[in-house]
Amino acid sequence: MIVFKFGGASVKDAAAFRNILRILSGLDHTQKPLVVVSAMGKTTNALEKVYRLAFQKLDYSAALQETRQYHLQIAQELFAGSNHPIHAALQQQFNYLELLLEHLQPVDFDRQYDQIISVGELLSSLMLHHFLASQGYPNQWIDCRDYLRTDATWREARLDWTWTEKQIRQHLPAVLEQQPIITQGFIGRSASGETTTLGREGSDFSAAIFAYCLRAESLTIWKDVPGLLNADPKLFKETTRYEEIAYQEAIEMAYYGASVIHPKTVQPLAQRCIPLYVKSFLHPSEPGTVIWNCQHERIAPSFILKQNQCLLSFHTKDFGFISEQHLSTIFKALSQHRLKINMMQNSAISFSTCVDADETRVEALKAELAQEFVILYNQPLHLFTIKNYDQPSLEKLTHGKEILLEQRSRQTFQFVCRPTQEFPL
Ligand code: ASP
Ligand code: MG
Repeated sequence: MIVFKFGGASVKDAAAFRNILRILSGLDHTQKPLVVVSAMGKTTNALEKVYRLAFQKLDYSAALQETRQYHLQIAQELFAGSNHPIHAALQQQFNYLELLLEHLQPVDFDRQYDQIISVGELLSSLMLHHFLASQGYPNQWIDCRDYLRTDATWREARLDWTWTEKQIRQHLPAVLEQQPIITQGFIGRSASGETTTLGREGSDFSAAIFAYCLRAESLTIWKDVPGLLNADPKLFKETTRYEEIAYQEAIEMAYYGASVIHPKTVQPLAQRCIPLYVKSFLHPSEPGTVIWNCQHERIAPSFILKQNQCLLSFHTKDFGFISEQHLSTIFKALSQHRLKINMMQNSAISFSTCVDADETRVEALKAELAQEFVILYNQPLHLFTIKNYDQPSLEKLTHGKEILLEQRSRQTFQFVCRPTQEFPL
């Protein structure tokens, strides 16, 4: 059993769907993959926009119409004739979406977010299923929510691994013996039957969940880059591709913010020694990168940038030392407000931490701790990480930047600075 994941860019237009057909048709006939697909192109962002407008009781009709038109246009290009069942299938999804939008409650933003944003993946998977079938590539569409059980942490749902694995193992191997499966990434369902989402860019993680539960031979993530690069080519001019890389390296890169793979993806694969291939959907016969249980020498430095960061520093009000008691109060508040520490440093009378500049969460945190601490903050900032740094790479990246906080270990160099330069660097 093999698992494939196609992201938004690989289903962004009619040509992209035809390209997937080519990739799948090129497989050996005995190989029937389980295919996980993201929402088409920038649909998730577009649906977020529609939902935000609707939630604020603003006019969302033009934004909704744009998303609808985008999908219908591609369907028109892919399917000859207006009576193909895809049209009714899409219409049904859009009717459902409208119904949800018309009946929004003024509370529970995150919960309703999941019900609405998840429609993107239903649309794309239906499109792919029908298109492949119409081209003589029979396949079974499944609703992944019947298989992925989560808790009700809206927008960041946590998986019930035991339930999910049992369900997948019980039903899907038999289906895969007959036909390839087309399903959605990013979405799941809570025990009470409501749709949940796994966090932005979560489709990689969905694919890893399926691969883990099926004990798949491999997972391939098809991307618009030639493999796992040492930096994002949109941000850095010079990049190199890793041919192979150990699970741990990949986990660390994702942790520091490398956007090529969702941070939760690699761990379940590592647990079952399932190799992860990152390949270009435009050049499918090129080798890409394999992430697996390998040993390698020190690899080329990788450069990772997290944008829109906030640097917070907490000072005791009486110039007293920062004690473990203080730290415990600060950590507890950070966790409560779901702010993840991207970097931190302690000194005699202050504690500094860099977090994502999520305005609502940061404001709530500041309000809670203002009694006990003098809180200074600075944003928006950049957090750069160089993994496997050496002197030349360090000098090159720090050159000319105003650094507010820095930290280094033997392998990793990190610094927070003001966003000054234009990209690509
Ligand atoms: N469509 C979702 C997003 O854009 C999930 C994914 O693409 O992985 O975040
Ligand atoms: Mg995406």
